[in-house]
Amino acid sequence: MEITVTKSADVGQKYRPTDSELGFGRYTTDHMFFMDFNREKGWHDARIEPYGNLKLDPTAMVLHYNQEVFEGLKAYHLMDGGIGLFRPEKNVERMNVSARRMVMPEVEPELFLRAIKQLVLLERDWVPTSEGTSLYIRPTMIATEPALGVRPSDEYLLYIILCPVGAYYPEGFNPTRIYVSDLHVRAVQGGVGEAKTSGNYGATLLVSQQAVSSGYTQVLWLDAKERRYVEEVGTSNIFFLIKDELVTPPLGGTILAGVTRDSVLQLGLHWGLQVSERPVSIEEVVDGCKRGTLKEMFATGTAAVISPVGEIHYKGEDFSVADGKTGELSQRLYDEITGIQYGRKEDPFGWRYRIA
Ligand SMILES: *Cc1c(COP(=O)(O)O)cnc(C)c1O
Repeated sequence: MEITVTKSADVGQKYRPTDSELGFGRYTTDHMFFMDFNREKGWHDARIEPYGNLKLDPTAMVLHYNQEVFEGLKAYHLMDGGIGLFRPEKNVERMNVSARRMVMPEVEPELFLRAIKQLVLLERDWVPTSEGTSLYIRPTMIATEPALGVRPSDEYLLYIILCPVGAYYPEGFNPTRIYVSDLHVRAVQGGVGEAKTSGNYGATLLVSQQAVSSGYTQVLWLDAKERRYVEEVGTSNIFFLIKDELVTPPLGGTILAGVTRDSVLQLGLHWGLQVSERPVSIEEVVDGCKRGTLKEMFATGTAAVISPVGEIHYKGEDFSVADGKTGELSQRLYDEITGIQYGRKEDPFGWRYRIA
């Protein structure tokens, strides 16, 4: 399928933030990608058009029953002036996994990747160049059929928008304080926790707002059944260095299969570390804090790559993780992954995906 392009007549009119004003998701670029789906034609009318509002019927199914999936990845300004993505085929694949779970149509991976590539190249001038900045890519699919019955929609829209985003750590790593929720849960076995679908995030706002107002950065989620096993932190995966073992909870339907998570696991193995995907109870974590056997704890995700945890709050008590300092492994992983992303380091796994 060909992607038609209608250039905006207003290129150059949008406010261009300086790299230090970027923040996250506050600015969008001049153009966006659209593609429609219906039962008769399947996916059709792939097009890049000027960025603008969507027009939806108020009964559009996404607005009522949350039939939505999305992705998040980044384009990086490479050392040599080129532009790279990081393992984008994983995001495309995961979007289709999420779509299947939400009874939405899959998108042909080649076309999906081509759409991302073509849009980013058209908006090349928007890729910020300072250290740690990037162009965030947000593919989103929504159910657009106007009908209020609860059933899968017959019509969908896929769109892709781009946001120049700032450096996550302009002043270096800052270990976070994490609130362990033993009352609310994010996802249950058999539910939609492993899909990147909007309802999962809306459901977490109440607890994360409470955590933030008590001075914590994020919420650590425990399993829904026993409130005992660690699952994820905020919208990131979680890792522990317990003695010499690098551990993360196994994917089991309630945890999102992070691309960063997979990259950390592969790097750990490559470096000869003892790597495990196994259940980790909150008692084991607290005990590790007390005894000093928990050497590092960090969250992983596209936004921050590696986010060290310095303290956890569980059942009314605060526990410090390895004196609240950033660990050596956290730093090494951060340097290695960002080094590959920005073209500063060798890429033995072929993760960098150069588009220019
Ligand atoms: C997106 C996301 C992650 C991280 O995935 P990455 O591919 O590493 O960015 C982890 N957990 C949840 C709940 C997420 O939505």
